[in-house]
Amino acid sequence: MTLTEKILARAAGKSSVQAGDNIWVNTDVLMTHDVCGPGTIGVFKREFGKNAKVWDRQKVVIIPDHYIFTADSLSNRNVDILRAFAQEQQLPYFFDVIDDPNGLWKFDTTKGLLKKQYGANYAGVCHAALPAKGHIRPGEVLFGTDSHTCMAGAFNQFATGIGNTDAGFVMGTGKLLIKVPETMHFRIEGKLQPGVMAKDVILHCIGEIGFDGATYRAMQFDGPGVASLSMDDRMTIANMAIEAGGKNGIFEFDSRTQEYVENRTRLNGTKTAFTPAEVDRDQKFVYETVINLDQLEPTVACHPDPGQRKKAKELGDVKLDRAYVGSCTGGKTSDFVEFARVLRGRHVTIDTFGVPATPEIVHDLQTTRWGDQTIWQILETAGVRMTENAGCAACLGGPVDTFGRMNLPGLKCISATNRNFPGRMGHKESQVFLASPATVAASAITGWITDPREYVAN
Ligand code: SF4
Repeated sequence: MTLTEKILARAAGKSSVQAGDNIWVNTDVLMTHDVCGPGTIGVFKREFGKNAKVWDRQKVVIIPDHYIFTADSLSNRNVDILRAFAQEQQLPYFFDVIDDPNGLWKFDTTKGLLKKQYGANYAGVCHAALPAKGHIRPGEVLFGTDSHTCMAGAFNQFATGIGNTDAGFVMGTGKLLIKVPETMHFRIEGKLQPGVMAKDVILHCIGEIGFDGATYRAMQFDGPGVASLSMDDRMTIANMAIEAGGKNGIFEFDSRTQEYVENRTRLNGTKTAFTPAEVDRDQKFVYETVINLDQLEPTVACHPDPGQRKKAKELGDVKLDRAYVGSCTGGKTSDFVEFARVLRGRHVTIDTFGVPATPEIVHDLQTTRWGDQTIWQILETAGVRMTENAGCAACLGGPVDTFGRMNLPGLKCISATNRNFPGRMGHKESQVFLASPATVAASAITGWITDPREYVAN
């Protein structure tokens, strides 16, 4: 069996399953956020009764992160709905924006968009927060009301996005009927070269198969090259399985996975036991390819979809209006480190926005020093508008006052985010070019899409 089949068989209590089987699986964690949480709660109450209890309080994780730092009152209210539900159900894992359990969330626009406005429990973007807060374990099943839930596949987990109706059902029963996906095999060999990042790996893969090339399929990444990829790298790759239509992305388990998960579960006092899925000799794939990391070059997905692959060096005639680093895919500490490595001692020439995915990443960047400056200061000195309000921000547009949102037609943005369908980051006539943080940095310096390797080498 493939990694995905092994995990699903175990979750269904079966000795084996194969692609195409329809099976009931038990859920290890259900995650929801401020956009889909209220709808999920509505379905749950409608179907199970207004006094119903969730199937397992320890397994429901609620992380507001999407439309948070906005004066939009309906978005603010969504966070309040989550708080009321978490209190009613006595959920231990609700990562509230504010500290007062009886308070109401309101974003104070008079304080501006850059200074932090959240309390001690706020966790930032759900997919980055889940592993960091100890809720991801190898071999388990995660359902989340968000398409990029597949990011947790980096940790050898079966993780996939589901809709509010399914999530309401999981909330009441802990189970879900799913079809076992076919598996596509991406064997990773070699090692990334300077200036080439994990983002380039997944943009390359999506370019190979198209933005619908993995529709309802698992994308399995294994092979000797995986060992050289950090957990952040693997998260970037698994995160974008959905950008090829994938049901899930999944990595083999190794000592790096083990170290990360053991560390984070202990740190947060969450469940530490897990049983990873090991790679079998006997696996059936519907597609097989080898990705040689040594041969990859800085890659860009052009407007209007993540499958529009080009090399950065071929796009030097694309004039940009802005640059953006952030999101679950591209707003991790390692992403900002590579962003800063290119920008250090240089200055951007176009509007450039930096949105860390989580408060912990803000802290990392504000405390890690390179010489006499922190990474945060290096980026600010280079002209990047860095916000402490970690969250999804303009990755998906959001309300009109969202930090970094593209509010005008015709704007072209190079972005370390994961999705670039028309209107994704705001105005439906704006254009988004997806790239690695290193490519975003080099492009922010020149104002044109730029291969970052000459900046990394110097
Ligand atoms: S950062 Fe972007 S892709 Fe990630 S969860 Fe938020 S909106 Fe979705």
